[in-house]
Amino acid sequence: MLETGIRQIRVAMAMVFGRRMNPRLVERLVDDALATLHEFGSPGDDVDQLVDGPFNDPNERRDLQTRALRRTARRLADKSVFYRERFEAAGVDPAGLTLESLRSVPVTVKDDIVARSADMMCGAPYISTQTTGTTGTPTRVWLSRYEIELWPALIALAMLLRAEIRPGDCMQINISSRATAAIQEDLGLFRLANAPARVVGQVPPDESIDQLLDRTGPAPTILTAYPSYLGQLVSAARRRGLGPDDFELRTIFSGGEVLSPHLAEAACDTFGVRRVHDPYGVTELLPVGGRTCLGGHLHLDLNMGYTEVKRLDSDEPADVGELGTLVVTPFYPYRECMPVLRYDTRDVVRVLPDGLDCELAGVPAVSKILGKESRLLRTRDGIVTQRDVIEALDGLPGVEWPVRHRATVAGDGRLHLTVAARGPSPSDVVKAFADRDLDVTAEIIELDEDEARLFHTLRCDLREETFTRAPGPKETP
Ligand SMILES: [Zn+2]
Repeated sequence: MLETGIRQIRVAMAMVFGRRMNPRLVERLVDDALATLHEFGSPGDDVDQLVDGPFNDPNERRDLQTRALRRTARRLADKSVFYRERFEAAGVDPAGLTLESLRSVPVTVKDDIVARSADMMCGAPYISTQTTGTTGTPTRVWLSRYEIELWPALIALAMLLRAEIRPGDCMQINISSRATAAIQEDLGLFRLANAPARVVGQVPPDESIDQLLDRTGPAPTILTAYPSYLGQLVSAARRRGLGPDDFELRTIFSGGEVLSPHLAEAACDTFGVRRVHDPYGVTELLPVGGRTCLGGHLHLDLNMGYTEVKRLDSDEPADVGELGTLVVTPFYPYRECMPVLRYDTRDVVRVLPDGLDCELAGVPAVSKILGKESRLLRTRDGIVTQRDVIEALDGLPGVEWPVRHRATVAGDGRLHLTVAARGPSPSDVVKAFADRDLDVTAEIIELDEDEARLFHTLRCDLREETFTRAPGPKETP
């Protein structure tokens, strides 16, 4: 344990002073954590301090964040043509940056990455990953070999210490094969945790269910899937009369879209898991991410990046209770190849007061992601978010998930819902929204599967269909 302690201190030092980290050192810490788990069954005391780091202390946080931002900005001014121009135009000295003067630098948006990616390159590119592009043109982001080695090691360490993965686990990965960074990260962290992984992709849901039931290899104990695809898995399992006793799952991770409590509960009931985690992660910001607590808040990683919430209609910070978009700056040395500063995700959250009472209270939080800014519905009664709509529709009687729909604001300013579903009536829809103090008009339409996909595109529609049909007699060798 002494050796572990020394390495812990060195990792913490690298975090504070910002030297480039040695991924091997973190990998050895993962090995030490595994050995400790094997011998003692639990990772021991002081785990939170190691996992959440010195940034957990509010008194030290401001100083550490300022230093981390200066270090990140100095490197950007040195290596990134795009940001050198930005600093000069804003009249900001990267070496003297403060949390306040940072706000003079305009936010970076997705279009900047699409148009200026070559001018943002700061390291040797090793693998490219792209956003799934369900909300517009996909963005291609390059990662260095250092990043692709470091991130899984950091994540494996944190997840093992928090018992989110355990020796003996097996993960089934049901996310799109286009999300190369996320899949690499999952494979890397499971390799380091000495645990197997099944990369299944977004094949037709019944095939994924078959994989969950397959006992010719290690049985999946952890599942990762987008909420819309998870909804299809729950519906498929229920159609087949399957229940908790048929699966070995203990945890589900489901991020990338709004996950409603109704769907999370249905997934728990059907697959026999205690909780569905909906973590926050965006390709452009990796390895910065967020965790959702039992209180329903989103707690963003403090060690690896700086988070702001910007007002919807100006560059000013949003006040407690207000809606705003998440703006995040990943720190060097965690982000190396194509780093961004003040990246405006356009993901809408509500600012929460300090002093929240939950199991992650040491880490500041915002509300869960409420949807994309471009999908906000400005009605005569105020702003309605994607989350408001999805949470109301997912609770309708007799629906299968995901619930395909269109929400529009009519000429009189009222919200109008067109819902493609069999089962609920328009009055069910009106009532579900009225229960949330939202006044809507509604209609129900019936669409076949292909029409439904065109009507409302979701991440589950990034379907991988090759070789999915059983061979016919003529195709049999
Ligand atoms: Zn919380």
